[in-house]
Amino acid sequence: MPKISRVRAILTAPQKTNLVVVKVETDQPGLYGLGCATFTQRFRAVATAVEQLEPLLVGRDVERIEELWQLMYQHSYWRNGPVLNNAIAGVDIALWDIKGKMAGMPVYQLLGGKCREAAAVYLHAQGRDEKQLEERCHMFLEQGVHHIRIQCGEFAYGGRDYSGHRPDGSLPGVYYDPRAYMRLSLKTMEHIRKVFGDRVEILHDVHERLSCADAVDFAKQCESLRLFFLEDALPPENIDWFANIRQACTTPLAMGELFNNPREWIPLISQRLIDFMRMHITQMGGLTPARKVAVMGELFGVRTAWHGPGDVSPVGHMLNLHLDLASPNFGIQEFSPNYNWDPDKKLGMDERLQEVFPGCPELRNGYLYANDNPGLGIDLDESAAAKYPPIDILDEWTQSRLPDGSLHRP
Ligand code: MG
Repeated sequence: MPKISRVRAILTAPQKTNLVVVKVETDQPGLYGLGCATFTQRFRAVATAVEQLEPLLVGRDVERIEELWQLMYQHSYWRNGPVLNNAIAGVDIALWDIKGKMAGMPVYQLLGGKCREAAAVYLHAQGRDEKQLEERCHMFLEQGVHHIRIQCGEFAYGGRDYSGHRPDGSLPGVYYDPRAYMRLSLKTMEHIRKVFGDRVEILHDVHERLSCADAVDFAKQCESLRLFFLEDALPPENIDWFANIRQACTTPLAMGELFNNPREWIPLISQRLIDFMRMHITQMGGLTPARKVAVMGELFGVRTAWHGPGDVSPVGHMLNLHLDLASPNFGIQEFSPNYNWDPDKKLGMDERLQEVFPGCPELRNGYLYANDNPGLGIDLDESAAAKYPPIDILDEWTQSRLPDGSLHRP
């Protein structure tokens, strides 16, 4: 029975976004697995956590995924934080990759087999104004993508739009006016609905930028727009307010990318207060917990819409896809292709990512396809990864502020 011989984190930034990939090697020549452990804002801390897990894992049986997940989870005594969850996820996903290779099957087969041939995706159209958004929607529609996230304002999250007065001495940051954001977003989505009718399924991400009462009002005003879903209307700290939104309107609700702890998703799913679960699979600890919560959602009529932005490595996107293919309650998959807005260029995974990660999922006519290779079906070219070393960035977008200069979570 193969044993774990080495565990390490590989850092790479092909698109200038820091990615963390865990490689678990075994004592069987050529048998290894890859997992995503990307927490881009604190990538070095995750790499250190992976390094600290290695002595716990070396010499253990690779087949015992559940046992090893539970061991990693409890071994540090304190648990459910983003750094450790990502490190655990990296190892966990790599072990599933290894199990698939040992079985000679893709991971979706280990999960029960395909419920569908490919996963429908949604892409992001952000534009500085209605005209630019319209152009981008046309471009997506021409390539078969109908599910489109509509965000107005150059920086997509309603941020940086504020140019009004601030108190003297206000600190630097990304300023925005939540109520102006709300009015602009409604107007923009109304415009898109008017221009495209039902050809576009509109999605929108509030990114928790409203007060709780305004979030209820916003969701209610979105009702007539017939959104596919409204995402992160509330911050995780105020999830009790979802009950108020539910009472006020029928807008479908999506939530979860910031969740770390089962106490966050259990009440929302079991009380049917959301329609789509959107956890970031590495943030919740990997495939082992994600597949359990996917099944829980199936039982309560909540669909999956796993988080799939640019700060998920292609290994993580591939994992999302395997779960999408095997889940009867799959809803939609967020995906991050080469957003270069060139109408003549086919949408797909960025070329630099394809160079570093052979076997990337393929996007065709709005659907994402996996290959049928054993395991996750994706590899990592370490010499190509080394061409794109990680970079230290001090994020600005998470230093968001209200017009009076006070901090507000982005
Ligand atoms: Mg989001």
